[in-house]
Amino acid sequence: MTAYRNTQLYIDGTWTDGAQGRHIDVINPATAEVIGHVARAEGPDLRRALDAAARGFVTWSRTSPLERSDILRRAAGLLRERSTGIAALMTMEQGKPVGEAQVELAAAADVLDWMAEEGRRTYGRIVPARAPGVMQEVIRTPVGPVAAFAPWNFPVNQVARKVGSALAAGCSIIVKAAEETPASPAEFIRALADAGVPAGVVNLVYGVPAEISETLIADPVVRKVTFTGSTAVGKHLAALAGSHMKRATMELGGHAPAIVCADADLDRAVSLLAGAKFRNAGQVCIAPTRFLVERPVYDTFVSRFADVASALRVGDGLAEGTRIGPLANIRRVDMMETLVADAQAKGARLVTGGKRMGNTGYFFEPTIVADATPAMRAMNEEPFGPIALMAPFDTLDAAIAEANRLSYGLASYAFTGSGRSAALLRDGVRAGMLTINHIGLGLPEVPFGGIGDSGYGSEGGIEAVEAYLDTRFVTVRAY
Ligand code: NAD
Repeated sequence: MTAYRNTQLYIDGTWTDGAQGRHIDVINPATAEVIGHVARAEGPDLRRALDAAARGFVTWSRTSPLERSDILRRAAGLLRERSTGIAALMTMEQGKPVGEAQVELAAAADVLDWMAEEGRRTYGRIVPARAPGVMQEVIRTPVGPVAAFAPWNFPVNQVARKVGSALAAGCSIIVKAAEETPASPAEFIRALADAGVPAGVVNLVYGVPAEISETLIADPVVRKVTFTGSTAVGKHLAALAGSHMKRATMELGGHAPAIVCADADLDRAVSLLAGAKFRNAGQVCIAPTRFLVERPVYDTFVSRFADVASALRVGDGLAEGTRIGPLANIRRVDMMETLVADAQAKGARLVTGGKRMGNTGYFFEPTIVADATPAMRAMNEEPFGPIALMAPFDTLDAAIAEANRLSYGLASYAFTGSGRSAALLRDGVRAGMLTINHIGLGLPEVPFGGIGDSGYGSEGGIEAVEAYLDTRFVTVRAY
């Protein structure tokens, strides 16, 4: 059994405590007990990280894409070898079932492998010239040192997407991972260091988020900002980045609609959507949230979904057989109670769940709220927890209108047996990602990102690497 480890900062190739020696407690959400601590970076630490990233950028941008690729692939291998121990750390600090933590680590290794290959393909192009002797070249060069802010829901994978694409493009990076879940991303960074990433190329800090983001984003060393988290914080950081004219990728909140038509394979829709809903106790930006079900199959869908939800075993993520762990922090439990109470007060029907569980830890029952309406807070605010909201619809147009009602536009889901309906959904649903008749989002090779209040930029596919490249044009007249 892995013991929990305290986490240090990683600056300029060295693991270190903060300059002032201060720490932040880490809590196991299954017990609400302090299990360790993480070093807190302050002004002098951030200065060292910035200077290291500036030097690291010189080193790494001059390292050949092939060598960068070899190192990233080696890190992916180390991550796979070490995944059992790292998964246990992740479960202790974040709560998710250890099997899910292992899946996350496998996905992070796949991200590194894919980015390693894609980094070798940052092609430019030659544009035919209008005059003889003229060469017109478009070249792609790494944008510079990056400041990355990653949240606690996928402690390793959110870091892997940012670090993988930045390193593949030739950038150095300073990562601020989540203070709630520091040990597992630190092991990810250790795998990169052990694989041969030179000192200064990757740096890891923790501390007071606002202090760190304000310092890093304003500093001239940093040329690109990437953030995953809530829309409110994302807007603030995007504005900071904008005020310094820095490139930014923002992967923010969502409120995914899941449209289920009467002609869909209902068993398949229930089983796949329930899996997607309750993964990571619903703390997933792409989790299906508003279930819009065509009226003739509405009651059946609600009751079958409730059967699945109430059979899921909730418990400590390290215990055998647990399907749903605790929520990551007490803020989420309080928010679940608030949203359920508000929905009930406004006429919703609580089909199953709705309450916190036990006296220790941050557990909340898998919850189904039926007959939800747009007047309810949960239908407008991202619940980010194990609540499925259900509402009937009569026409596909009405379902699409409800899907598009919010300013979010991250993931969306649909199940239908009709090709015509699938085409109408493809044309009509306004979201960065749409998956029809299966759960097909989040692979490294496909775009991952939102539109509207869900942010901009992509953390998957070729777009992910492009986000870390500048496009430059060079023309020479030879004669
Ligand atoms: P929050 O808004 O306080 O924080 C969200 C994330 O941003 C955290 O990781 C936090 O450390 C970071 N953060 C907060 N202020 C910051 C700042 N000034 N500079 C840099 N980073 C900062 O919310 P929370 O209670 O931690 O999480 C709940 C909400 O966050 C959810 O409702 C969800 O919308 C969102 N969230 C989204 C994702 C995602 O994958 N898109 C992940 C985690 C949280």
